[in-house]
Amino acid sequence: MDNTRFTLVRDAYRKQAVAVDAPVEAPSKYFGELIFGRGEMRRYLDPSTFRALEKCIDSGEPLDLGIAGKVADGMKQWALEHGVTHVSHWFQPLTDSTAEKHNSLLEYDGKGGVIESFSGSELVQQEPDASSFPSGGLRATFEARGYTAWDPASPVFIQDDTLCIPTVFISYTGEALDYKTPLIKSIKAVEDAAVPICRLFDPAVVRVFCYLGWEQEYFLVDEDLYSARPDLMLTGRTLMGHQSSKSQQLDDHYFGAIPSRVTAFMKDLEREALRLGIPVKTRHNEVAPNQFELAPIYGEANLSNDQNQLIMNLMHKIARIHGFAVLFHEKPFAGINGSGKHCNWSLGTDTGVQLMAPGRNPDGNLQFLVFFVNVLMAVQRYNSLLKASVASATNAHRLGANEAPPAIISAFLGKTMTDVLRRIKDTPSGTPVEIAGRKGARLGAYGIPEIFIDNTDRNRTSPFAFTGNRFEFRAVGSSANCAGAITALNAAVAGQLKDFMACVDAAMAAGKARDEAVMDCLKPIIAEVIDTVCFDGNGYTEEWKKEAERRGLDTETCVPRMFLGFTSPEAVRLFGRTGVFTAKELEARNEVNWNRYVKKVQIEARVMSRMVTNHIIPAVLEYKRRLLEGLSLEKNVFGPSLHDASAEEIVRTIVSELAVLRSDTAALDEAVEQAELIENDFEKAVAYHGIAELIEETRKPVDRLEEITDNAIWPLPKYREILLIS
Ligand code: ADP
Ligand code: MG
Repeated sequence: MDNTRFTLVRDAYRKQAVAVDAPVEAPSKYFGELIFGRGEMRRYLDPSTFRALEKCIDSGEPLDLGIAGKVADGMKQWALEHGVTHVSHWFQPLTDSTAEKHNSLLEYDGKGGVIESFSGSELVQQEPDASSFPSGGLRATFEARGYTAWDPASPVFIQDDTLCIPTVFISYTGEALDYKTPLIKSIKAVEDAAVPICRLFDPAVVRVFCYLGWEQEYFLVDEDLYSARPDLMLTGRTLMGHQSSKSQQLDDHYFGAIPSRVTAFMKDLEREALRLGIPVKTRHNEVAPNQFELAPIYGEANLSNDQNQLIMNLMHKIARIHGFAVLFHEKPFAGINGSGKHCNWSLGTDTGVQLMAPGRNPDGNLQFLVFFVNVLMAVQRYNSLLKASVASATNAHRLGANEAPPAIISAFLGKTMTDVLRRIKDTPSGTPVEIAGRKGARLGAYGIPEIFIDNTDRNRTSPFAFTGNRFEFRAVGSSANCAGAITALNAAVAGQLKDFMACVDAAMAAGKARDEAVMDCLKPIIAEVIDTVCFDGNGYTEEWKKEAERRGLDTETCVPRMFLGFTSPEAVRLFGRTGVFTAKELEARNEVNWNRYVKKVQIEARVMSRMVTNHIIPAVLEYKRRLLEGLSLEKNVFGPSLHDASAEEIVRTIVSELAVLRSDTAALDEAVEQAELIENDFEKAVAYHGIAELIEETRKPVDRLEEITDNAIWPLPKYREILLIS
């Protein structure tokens, strides 16, 4: 009998929490000690260099090379004091992770010795060999160069012995090859569109900031059990596995006590995150067993997104120290909740006004309504684009897979805001709108009093929900770079705000006062969105899919087709006028999207096929052999008089399930072979979408066989074993 699986499980169960021997110190003592933040800048740079750098950071203007040299000198001194020996540009190519290329600081000093050297040009720009990063044909092979350039808005940080410089990654002809570049452009676009609207209400507004607060969900599994599952190791999810008798039906994991091994991991992680200036705030168990969540205090979107990328790297590293593997896959286990990365998004002014929160006075509320309603319209107009921005091979298992959120992007408003919008819609033009506020007061010409949002009014099934002072984009996958979704959202909102401002300008030019002009432009939009993109019901139901289709929302469920949302005429126009992407960049990105989709599904198909051949079939045949041996012995001893129908029955079931499994696997292999012949990227990806379905089909006989096969023979750790941390 093969006992290795039991030994693995027993040992995993016995593992103790790794002791964290961090000094007991208040986090404020070490927060940000590994970043070259404003405090360090002030200390290590001369005052004029500091001011010049600060100006670049605040205005987003590029750094002058003369100043860069002085900044690099200060940084080098700080880095050497922290034991740094290497330097690397750190960037976010169109893959699943960040990229680094480390260079030693070592240089000959020209006098026969060596020194540590770090110049301004090394800080500002590098040329990694870009040919092996996805570019979607933007770089012809003879032009394999791309360059990385420092983004001073994101502080330089130390990882191990390396000074890491957050950078954008661009082709020599200027096209973005990464996530950061378009995100920065989209933040600028939404600011440019929002500032003129804010100035209608307060001329003192100069800047509008975009904020992001992500909530990272993840699974932890014991690394020994993880490494006994080729599917988990190679694809990030289990391709097979029968449901455990006890999974999440008891709901006893959600917000329950965190296992001590996990607590130790979290403490270590949080400490390292805080040292890197990542303001981690909440930690808790999630709905599924072994599922957890981590969320920081929200911040400026570009920086907050860098921090998410950084912390994902950190989580992998620290999990290893604690004997865990961390899973960011959106659906590592069938039949159990998947993981998302809710992106809490809002805009705010440099005068301290939160534009997605009701104001304190009639003016503030009107301004809030303008932003609120235009965001809804943006989500409606660019519905397919927003869905494309969260689509991926892995998120496909979560979106629409009978679990929050469905593959339809609608917006949840909550009762208060739905009432507010309905009242505005139903009030005839020119008459003041009355909405019951705290005092029921009628304020201003349009009578919009204080609005009190009931924060407990939540809907977990909505992919895009208003939560009192922000919108929560919940359809984003746990493994995604948030920049993908936030870039699309910013561009959509920027485009919509521009159109709105043009409407208000025209109305005011025609002699209308501000409030009247604003309301006249707002009312038709409200009438359009309230019964289209706005949906407060249960998103899981079949009726909603039909209803959404009737409303004209995008109901596409095939991921490769969803990507077409990036290159639709409306999307190309939107990205062009907001300066976020050129048509060429969009096409290149879709090439990358389709290729990535193909590769992911292809790997899954191969792993599935090999696991069936090398793990499942041998184990089941062995079990069958034993049953037959028993039956034959029985016959020898007792003759046909004693007949064990149950063993015979199992053998028959095995034979028939194996036949199904063999034909499913053959169909899968055949489909891959055929798909590989397709040259067109889109068509190939669509073919692989079919293959993704075949993988799920192949899984079924495997799971049935797991159910009937002798537990001692089963070669893979089972769900009940992987989903257990003591
Ligand atoms: P919940 O689970 O109720 O959504 P959490 O506390 O887990 O709440 O996460 C809320 C996230 O939203 C946090 O990251 C928080 O910093 C962020 N957040 C709060 N207010 C804003 C805002 N105005 N803009 C952007 N993010 C915000
Ligand atoms: Mg949330």
